[in-house]
This record gives sequence, structure tokens and C-alpha cells, in this order.
Amino acid sequence: MALKQFKAESKRLLDLMINSIYTNREIFLREIISNASDAIDKLHFISLTDEGARRDFRILITRDREARTLTVDDNGIGMSAEELESDLGTIAKSGTLDFKQNSTDGNAAEELIGQFGVGFYSCFMVADEVTVISRKYGEEKAHKWVSTGVDGYEITDAERETSGTTVILKLKPDGSGDNYSQYLEEYTIRSLVKHYSDYIRYPIITDVVKYTDEKTEDGKPVTRTEPETLNSMVPIWKRRRSEVKDEEYKDFYMDNFSEGDAPEKIITANMEGSVSFTALLFIPSRPPYDYYTKAYKRGLKLYSSGVLIMDTCEKLLPDWLGFVRGIVDSSDLSLNISREMLQHDRQLSEIAKALEKKLLSELAKWLESDRAGYEKFFSQFGITLKFGAYEGFGMNLNKLKDLLVYKTAKGKTVTLKEYVADMSADQKDIYYASGSDAVSLGSLPQVTAVVAKGYDVLLLTDNVDEFVIKLMNAYDEKPLKSVSSDTLDLSTDEEKSAAEKKTTDNKALLDEVKEILAGKVSEVRLSSMLGEYASGLSAKGELSIEMAKVLASMPGNEKIKAQYVLELNPDHKMFGLLRTLSETDKTKFGRLCVLLYTEAMLTVGIEPENPGEFVKLVNEFIG
Ligand code: ADP
Repeated sequence: MALKQFKAESKRLLDLMINSIYTNREIFLREIISNASDAIDKLHFISLTDEGARRDFRILITRDREARTLTVDDNGIGMSAEELESDLGTIAKSGTLDFKQNSTDGNAAEELIGQFGVGFYSCFMVADEVTVISRKYGEEKAHKWVSTGVDGYEITDAERETSGTTVILKLKPDGSGDNYSQYLEEYTIRSLVKHYSDYIRYPIITDVVKYTDEKTEDGKPVTRTEPETLNSMVPIWKRRRSEVKDEEYKDFYMDNFSEGDAPEKIITANMEGSVSFTALLFIPSRPPYDYYTKAYKRGLKLYSSGVLIMDTCEKLLPDWLGFVRGIVDSSDLSLNISREMLQHDRQLSEIAKALEKKLLSELAKWLESDRAGYEKFFSQFGITLKFGAYEGFGMNLNKLKDLLVYKTAKGKTVTLKEYVADMSADQKDIYYASGSDAVSLGSLPQVTAVVAKGYDVLLLTDNVDEFVIKLMNAYDEKPLKSVSSDTLDLSTDEEKSAAEKKTTDNKALLDEVKEILAGKVSEVRLSSMLGEYASGLSAKGELSIEMAKVLASMPGNEKIKAQYVLELNPDHKMFGLLRTLSETDKTKFGRLCVLLYTEAMLTVGIEPENPGEFVKLVNEFIG
């Protein structure tokens, strides 16, 4: 077969890697071993039902100093000629590499390698020629794939006794500070296997030199070589938590979940019950790059007695814990689970239920014991929990409500429980303000007014926040109240009757304003809570301004609008002007009404329909 070119993306990536942007070359061995282990997993799985597939599974590493080759051989499932072509000939089939194609930055390339699991290609960081001889299980013929890197690869017929794959690396020559010969040393291989691949569940064997008791004639010790298993093989999740270093968990996580960062939290669980299982779970430090896309696969790796059954079992986690990564191993699941999934639904949902409970209690503990850590986590994944609280009309609300934290106008970050605990005796409601960012919310006139009373205000800045709050309605019997609701009234009885009087006195004027703004606002009234502002906006009824904004941004909902109430500040000089104009200049009066209305809209973050017109109005009244 003629020399074939790598697909374009592969070529670019190979270039990046070979030009040693990847700082940690030694990972090539981990990558090849992981591939070998995956291939054995696949055959192991088949072997449970197919006698013929049974093997003494192992991964063999051979070092040949003279030939300068390092060989990794597995007796796994192997690859057919087509698979050699498709799996080793292309790296990222989707072309998703484009977004970083111009990158020459080392870190970006490293991230890229991690993201696409382009493990096999890391061989070219240490080898100038790579040969893969493979025979697929169930096939008679074997094939050989040879490549010297960017130039391309060649596939020819080959011989191999059993199914499996042999990867032969012809190491690059040493020089200018590069020591590739180290990968021919027993010591290096032993420590790399221990470091990266200790939990691989099949023996990784290499010939090692052993000293015997005998001595040669000239007194030197006699040595012999014998095969030795280098890894301890016990899956990391089967080991006691106290016996595993965090560093090992971290390595396991980074190797198995294509993560570039250490996990934020490690959770282990050992459950006994109608379905027993072991779980090793991780909370990432930040959302993976594809977390908010359809490409993100939620779920955990599912093992049955150490054999991988499914890479991402969705059923094990609810959507709102979709950020959790990890593995579940249960000996109660029969192995043909992937084929007869339905039959196992009950067992899986029992595991899922137990996991949910465990994770909820871990999150609660985290919130209690390490506030800064929890808040960091919440800043990354809180939104997922909030969506969970809203999902299904709040069916999980009770489980989640105490895990939500909010920023407040007084600069704190609180749970609802803490907010309530801090409420003064005369405060009846829990106040919240909803908008796109905490800073502008903090300067809303209504927020300032509530804070001036000594009360704090929850600042809701995620779209979903207010929907959750509305579902909750009250916390600990304290009503949750929007500061932008037209029913917000903090005044004393005295202030109230004074305000009522003012409203009656100005009724005609307010009606006139309402008429001018017909179709825009459903009510115009006076408010004593506007501070330095001449006007403000609140909403009547259930639909708040923010919720209407969120809903209207969804396709088909463009017409949704809150019922606006325009509030005017009777103590502001603009109000005096308004009154004067209503008697002296009706045209200018009409323009001032529009100006005050637009200003009120701006304070709640709604842009004027016609900004140019607004600017003209402002200038007119400044002048
Ligand atoms: P990844 O392992 O992340 O899929 P790799 O580049 O390491 O990416 O490997 C590409 C594919 O080549 C693997 O998914 C697998 O299908 C195949 N492969 C690699 N090594 C082996 C092997 N030793 N035995 C069988 N298949 C292999």
C-alpha cells in the first residue's frame, strides 16, 4: 500500500507536538499503556460470554538497546486494517481543531492534546518511527502500520499469532539536552509505570535484571533477567481512601477524564444495600470547555467487578449533578448490562438514588466546613444546581434550596438560612433584586431604599434565579419579595397616609402622565423610595421585569412584557418641573413624561427603543 497522508488536522497537531510544545514527553508511555488497557477491557468484556476470547491478559514492555526500540504489546481486541486507518490516521474527526489552529502557544497546544485524547500521537514526541502491528479479534490477518510522523503512514499485511497490538517505538537520537535513551532503562520504565499506570487492571510486565547469590570468577555478582509485574493493579477505587494519596486520585482523574486541572473535590463512597457499589467521584475545578454544549456527556463510568461496561452512564446522575465525574463499580450488575439496559434500570436507579443522597450531603458538608471552597465551586457550577431547583416545577427544590448562595447588597454571600437568621425583628420579608449584574443592582433606587432601612437584599444575577425564587415563594415562612414589585412598601403608617394624600393631590397630573404613556405603562404613581432618582420602574402582578426579559429573549416569546408601573419621586425637582409644564407647555410636558419613563427603563437595564431621541430629550432638559 502506498504512503498515505494524515488528515489535515492531524498533521497540524502532529507538527505542534513533535516540535516539543508538549512539555511532559514522558506521558507517551501512559498513553500507549492506556490504549492497551482499553483494548484488553474490550476483549475481556467479550470473553465473559465467549470462551474463545479468554486470555491471560497482560501488557508487555520490551526494551532493545541495540535497535533503540521500546515495544508495548497487548493481547487485547486489536485493530483491523480499516481501524488502523481510521483510528490512527485521523486525530479529530470533527474538525473541531479549527478554533485553535493558529495557536503557537504552548499551553494551548497542551490543552488541545488533552481535550481530544490524541494520546497515540504523543509517541512522536520520543520516536522518529512508530510501527503498529495489530490483529483484530476474530480475524485471521494481521496488519502493520508504519509512520515516521508528519509525512504520513503506510499499511501492509503482517503476521501476528493472536489478537492484540504491538506498538514499536524507534526512539529519536539523543542530543542537545534530550535524553531519549532513558526510555530504554528499566529504572525509567518502572517509575513511569508506577507513576502513571499503577491502577491499570492488567499486569504490565517487563524483563528486569535480578541479582543472584552467585558470583563470577572475578567476584562480580551474577545477574539474570526475569519478567516482573510493575503495577499494583488494584483499581484505585478499590483501595481504602486512607491508603491513597490525593496526588494519586488527581493523576487518576486527569488521566481518565481528559482534564487538565486537578479536581476541586474528591468523594469516595462505599455503599452496601440491595445494590452494593463503590464510587469514586470528582467535582472539577471548572466546567469543561464543552460543558454548556450538547457535546458534553454527562454521566459516570460504570464498571461491573472491575470490568468497564459503559464509558458514560447517564442514568447514574440527575442533570443537576451533571458536572460530577467519576466511576461506579458494582458487582451486582450483570455484565451484559449494555445490551439489556432496560432490565437493569431498577438497579441503576437505586445506585443513582444513593449517589444523589451522598452528593447532596457532601455538598452540604462542604458548605459548612469550607465556605471559601464551596463558594468557589458555586461560582462555577451553582447555575447547574439552580436549574436543578427550577426543573420539573421545583420538584428538587427542597433538596437544593439550602445549597444555593447569593450575593447581597451589603456585600455578603449568604444562603437563605443565613439571610433569615440575620433578619431584624421588624423585617417581615426576604428582599431580592433581579438584574444582570450585582453592581447595577446595588445602585437601584429600590435596593438603596431597602438597605437604608437596615435590611439586606439578595442580588439575583442569573436568569434562572428569579424563577427559582418565585417557585419557592417563601423561605422559613418568610415571603420572598422583589424590590421591584409595585407592592413593595417600607413606609410607616404615618408616611403612608402622607403618601396617600400626595397621590390624591396629584391624581389629575398622574392620570395625564399615564395617558401620554398609554401602551407603555399600566400605572403611574408616586414613590417615596426613589432617593436621588426622579423616576423608577416596578412591575405589577406575577411577572417581574427581569423574568419578562428572560422569557422575551426566548424564541416565540418576543411579545412578553411585564406590566410596568412608572414611579415618580414627588420630592425631586423634575417632579416640580413636570407639574409646572403640565400647566404651561403641554408639548414639553409630553416630552418630559417620555424622558422620565426612559430614565426609569434605563435604571432597570432596558435600553431605550430610540437612543438618539432619548439623548435629544436629555439635552433639551439640561439646557
Ligand atoms: P483515544 O485513546 O483517546 O481514543 P488515541 O489516539 O490514543 O486516542 O487512540 C486512537 C484509537 O486507536 C483508540 O480509540 C483505539 O480505537 C485505537 N487504538 C489505539 N491503541 C490501540 C490498541 N493498543 N489496541 C486497540 N486499539 C487501539
